[in-house]
Amino acid sequence: MNNYARADIQRIAGYTPGEQPTMPRLIKLNTNENPYPPSPAVAAALAGLDWKALRRYPEPSGRIVRQAASLLYGIPESRVFCGNGSDDLLTIAVRTFVGAGEAFAFPEPSYSLYPVLAALQGAQPKPIQLTEDFNLPDDFAQQCAGARLVIIARPNAPTGNAFPKERVRQLASELDAILWIDEAYADFAEDNCLDMVDQFPNVVVSRTLSKSYSLAGLRLGLAFAREEVIFEMNKLKDSYNVDAIAQAVAVAALRDSRHLQITTNRIRHTREDTAAALKRLGCDVLPSQANFLFVRPAKAPAAQLFAQLRERGLLVRYFALPRVDDRVRITIGTDAEMQELLAAWHELDQ
Ligand code: PMP
Repeated sequence: MNNYARADIQRIAGYTPGEQPTMPRLIKLNTNENPYPPSPAVAAALAGLDWKALRRYPEPSGRIVRQAASLLYGIPESRVFCGNGSDDLLTIAVRTFVGAGEAFAFPEPSYSLYPVLAALQGAQPKPIQLTEDFNLPDDFAQQCAGARLVIIARPNAPTGNAFPKERVRQLASELDAILWIDEAYADFAEDNCLDMVDQFPNVVVSRTLSKSYSLAGLRLGLAFAREEVIFEMNKLKDSYNVDAIAQAVAVAALRDSRHLQITTNRIRHTREDTAAALKRLGCDVLPSQANFLFVRPAKAPAAQLFAQLRERGLLVRYFALPRVDDRVRITIGTDAEMQELLAAWHELDQ
């Protein structure tokens, strides 16, 4: 049959999301979801929804979410922009800042969606190799020369480390381009770069409710930037990119800082315990500031360990890509889930 899709789209492989299995018995540690439920305030917000009001379109900019975020982060509402998850924000970023044929730079290894977005935009992807220990090379800004957009994830995925903040600040001042800091995992980290939005006209910071707020199923992302940057991004977004249900629920979640504090602390704790246990088994565990660990097994090949863990109902993530194919990424689950993982790992990593 004829394929009527654009030739360049046919040539692009597309992004492969982590598996969302239907097997109920699987322990799912593969897509950096939160093992704990969202705030109980979410249930109350859902129960309080007026279903008849759904006949109307939602407020286009997600104003109530922007207000809640403004209050939480101390950033004016005019500098907050909402997305249908942060992947939506990243798509909007590439479409707003990078023309066809223009360059878009990002570190490698990093979030594997970035090169896919570059390809879909007909842009020139500029992957810049991180150092041996997965940090930004000294000449990162020089290597970005000519790029219209630079996206870094901090903490980085799938490695889990956070590039030193001073280094990111230096980068913001050196670059003649938008520096987009993808902070999907920042609530699990020691610090973040939100203050740079005030300091630099070219900095955008994005966040998501998918990880720390335990709302991956909801699809709500936030970007923080100067008004003139948001003005342009507004032209690219779908008019109603955040639905009315997501807006109401997100507000409830953002207001419950206590719940966020408790669950993120718990996950950080479990992360450190799990890292220590894996090190005792002889694994190489990268220092992580996120809700996952990037681990090189002591003896077993990573691909084999991934497959054997899966057979036992433990789903982690494996990337068959250069520089990272000797490791698996483990999302931090509950303490009980990590105990099960460690027991299986102990048997299989021989
Ligand atoms: N950025 C990074 C670095 C991620 O790992 C993810 C999760 N896959 C996202 C953004 C997107 O998250 P979401 O679209 O759920 O907000």
